[in-house]
Amino acid sequence: MPDVPAGEEAAAAVTALVADGADGWDRAGLLPVGLLRHLGTAGWLCAQVPPAYGGRGLNSADNGAFTAHVGSLCSSVRSVMTSQGMAAWTVERLGTAGQRAAFLPRLTGGALAAAGFSERAAGSDLSAMTTRVRRDGDTVVLDGHKVWVTAAHYADLLVLFGRYQDADPGAAPAAGDHGRAVVVPADTPGVRVTRVADPLGCRAAGHADIALDAVRVPADHVLGGSPLPLPLLVTTALAYGRMSVAWGCVGILRGCLTAAARHAATREQFGAPLGDHQLVARHLAELFAAEQTATRVCEHASRCWDEGSPEQVVATVLAKHVSARNAARGAATAVQVLASAGAQDGHPVARAHRDAKLMELIEGSNEMCQLMLARHVLGSSA
Ligand SMILES: Cc1cc2nc3c(=O)[nH]c(=O)nc-3n(C[C@H](O)[C@H](O)[C@H](O)COP(=O)(O)OP(=O)(O)OC[C@H]3O[C@@H](n4cnc5c(N)ncnc54)[C@H](O)[C@@H]3O)c2cc1C
Repeated sequence: MPDVPAGEEAAAAVTALVADGADGWDRAGLLPVGLLRHLGTAGWLCAQVPPAYGGRGLNSADNGAFTAHVGSLCSSVRSVMTSQGMAAWTVERLGTAGQRAAFLPRLTGGALAAAGFSERAAGSDLSAMTTRVRRDGDTVVLDGHKVWVTAAHYADLLVLFGRYQDADPGAAPAAGDHGRAVVVPADTPGVRVTRVADPLGCRAAGHADIALDAVRVPADHVLGGSPLPLPLLVTTALAYGRMSVAWGCVGILRGCLTAAARHAATREQFGAPLGDHQLVARHLAELFAAEQTATRVCEHASRCWDEGSPEQVVATVLAKHVSARNAARGAATAVQVLASAGAQDGHPVARAHRDAKLMELIEGSNEMCQLMLARHVLGSSA
């Protein structure tokens, strides 16, 4: 691992690396791969991976603070971090000791990764997934089609989820909802990665569809010992993604708050700074409240992760939901404060507005999070 400093110094280093690049990358729809590999080789794309595997070994709170910082600079870079972290977390949680030793050093050593669950007919309802993972001797064969996989355009390794079928190629997919996660090198014959055209936001995050046509990999690329129920499998991987997106949204809110406050303090209308007009001041107060609330729910959720609290699952869903909703509303508020000054591509609040909206759709949409939270409430009261 190269000598890249830790903590606040890492944040400063990322600030220097991103510099004023985010807008240009957004317009181009591409991140510099050299930057991603630089961050990856330094262990910063999946900083929770333990040092034994070349990682930074950060706890959830410190990784979250770093993620928020990156999110305040560039949501596309933060999205790639989320994907890399989710892939690493899946290997760490589901893989055997041998698989952790085989794959994690690659993920902390510059290889880029993405995690694919979604399919055309399986978005919110991942139990409708039809991608098959079929055992064939000492290999497995994957057939299916994943959509909208963040960072897949850049990825060397794909962590893909599918229904598991033991052997017989003619048989229907496994009865019940059992599935597997498989590590697939992106250059394996039969893998075709196609960019998603013109995404609304996080435009440089490398979203892509992945067609899998008789993709054969060694059986030891299938993570873990035995098939797991699909909901458990995907929830394990998504848990990390939810925390990462939640902290990324805190970053979006901080960027918006800074931009809105600066503008309201300097732009004058009706003979006074905008911030002196009470209705504009209210926008700033709401934006501040949104940022602070999101920060607190994320801190609480990370504490649950770091203490191994039984509240971890619900705290994570709550953090994701509150942060994404606040970021979408907060970014819209920031555009309101800047008005024409922020109403064009090229301004950070315009980019934040587009990026934040997407955060309400992914890793459990607003509605999916609300359903999970409602189930928690009903379960607690039963
Ligand atoms: C920017 C972006 C990045 C993504 N990255 C990845 C990735 O890295 N890997 C990956 O596998 N996938 C990824 N996805 C896909 C993402 O996970 C899905 O878009 C998401 O799960 C929603 O699925 P859908 O788009 O098919 O919407 P649908 O499932 O069709 O839902 C449409 C709307 O209906 C609502 N809805 C659906 N069912 C219910 C219900 N029962 N009750 C109430 N409301 C409901 C939803 O909340 C949503 O508002 C990404 C998508 C986007 C946009």
